[in-house]
Amino acid sequence: MSLATESPSPSPSSSSGSDDFAALLDAELELTSVVDSASLGDPSTSSTSDDEEDGDEDVVVEVEAVEQSSTKRRKVIEQVQDRGITIKPDEDAKAGSCKDSQIKICPPHPGFFGGLCFRCGKRQDEEDVPGVAFGYIHKGLRLGTSEIDRLRGSNVKSLLRERKLVLILDLDHTLINSTKLHDISAAERDLGIQTFASEDAPEKSLFTLEAMQMLTKLRPFVCKFLKEASNMFEMYIYTMGDKAYAIEIAKLLDPGNVYFGSKVISNSDCTQRHQKGLDVVLGAENVAIILDDTEYVWQKHKENLILMERYHYFASSCRQFGFSVKALSESMQDERESDGALATTLDVLKRIHTLFFDSAVETALSSRDVRQVIKKVRQEVLQGCKVVFSRVFPSSSRPQDQIIWKMAEQLGAICCADMDSTVTHVVAVDSGTEKARWAVGNNKILVHPRWIEASNFRWHRQQEEDFPVPAPKEKSKQKGKENADAVAPGPTES
Ligand SMILES: [Zn+2]
Repeated sequence: MSLATESPSPSPSSSSGSDDFAALLDAELELTSVVDSASLGDPSTSSTSDDEEDGDEDVVVEVEAVEQSSTKRRKVIEQVQDRGITIKPDEDAKAGSCKDSQIKICPPHPGFFGGLCFRCGKRQDEEDVPGVAFGYIHKGLRLGTSEIDRLRGSNVKSLLRERKLVLILDLDHTLINSTKLHDISAAERDLGIQTFASEDAPEKSLFTLEAMQMLTKLRPFVCKFLKEASNMFEMYIYTMGDKAYAIEIAKLLDPGNVYFGSKVISNSDCTQRHQKGLDVVLGAENVAIILDDTEYVWQKHKENLILMERYHYFASSCRQFGFSVKALSESMQDERESDGALATTLDVLKRIHTLFFDSAVETALSSRDVRQVIKKVRQEVLQGCKVVFSRVFPSSSRPQDQIIWKMAEQLGAICCADMDSTVTHVVAVDSGTEKARWAVGNNKILVHPRWIEASNFRWHRQQEEDFPVPAPKEKSKQKGKENADAVAPGPTES
């Protein structure tokens, strides 16, 4: 994208300089630019206060990028000045350039770029820090609430025209698995994992991140996943990892920089500690789907979340999550491409996309809500199942409050406390209970609670016979097996 050709000239009907900047932002948000100025640092904004957190010193700054990002900045200032406003030095700004300027409705300032209001040019000070920082789009960019709303609105319109929704992708354990070099296990070392990672091979999925002293394994199917998902979604990376790491991984996943552009959100962009939020995403909540292996970080957006089965490839990852079994890397195995977690999830995304755009419902596209569609697709999974639980919960608790009960209901099953002829499944951890024996005697399906969890992860009713209920004496043996299953719950292949 060339900014020179994309930037609109000030139109006589436009009432404020922010329209011009907004148009520039709109164009920027198409993010087809090869150069990610946010990631490379903008030398012209070196006086902004958030410099310390960025860790840009690790990143090689290319001359072309520097030129391009200072062009962007110059362009913004020119546009502000085109509105008859001189960007004033600090002292003048403090004297109140805003109310003296020709632009009347500022404050509230729509937002700041490089510390200057992009409508009136006033330098940002303590009391008018508005809205949210969008440092990943442009270093030093802050947007006020109404400007964010406006951008989201126009983003939704153009997305829906293209039949696209927004997809937010977590990295670790969702699309990839990484390990520090010094955490590599003896077995991994003996198998030559570092050599594999450093070799140049076609279709390779194991990489060395030299600068970070790490190895990264791409999850099987991830390349096809991203390619197909990009036809249905505008995609963001959103990680709790730091910016330098996020950018390195984005390069592995998207070497041609066609999927993400600058839409790479990392820990320094989060507005709340230990939480991810859609507040820093310029896609609207009613069109956003999140893929993440951690539910906890999305407290405010659970309805947008598709919870992913964790991808543990390396031994250190298994250890970190308390699994004491052989890692996939140590047994030269991996998730299967064809029906592993990403392939399964892609099918779910296709279903949601189709229902959103092609449903027979007479609702206008703009008032549809992808959260309702997610809910609906989830409810198809165990539709027609009527479930009774047998001693799965502590007797002192209300069964309706238990996670597994709620999960079954979200999957479309009917949960009830008592047995009758309409019950289809008895869920138990011990085949010796009264209800379990009743199930066997009355031709009902007796199944382990992990059947519900697995159906939940895979968005598909799992074969009940894969989740047998152990007899009381087998229980301790089963426990060990459960742990092993938890490491590599998806289908694997050598
Ligand atoms: Zn202003």
